Amino acid sequence: MNKFWGTHHAHRDGASTDGDARVDPICGMSVMRSNAAAIRTDGDVEYFFCSNGCAVAFDTDHAH
Ligand SMILES: [Zn+2]
Repeated sequence: MNKFWGTHHAHRDGASTDGDARVDPICGMSVMRSNAAAIRTDGDVEYFFCSNGCAVAFDTDHAH
């Protein structure tokens, strides 16, 4: 079906979200690496945050 093909092609073009987007664990927004206000790593998992406030909330959560 054409619709499926279009989607697949768009994905491989790479202009949009998939590859680099993560869900901000605090507010649930989808954040791209290039748009992230802050990045935290936990082991080998990276978290991207929409704002510094979310990163601080994450730090607080993981501090204890
Ligand atoms: Zn956020």
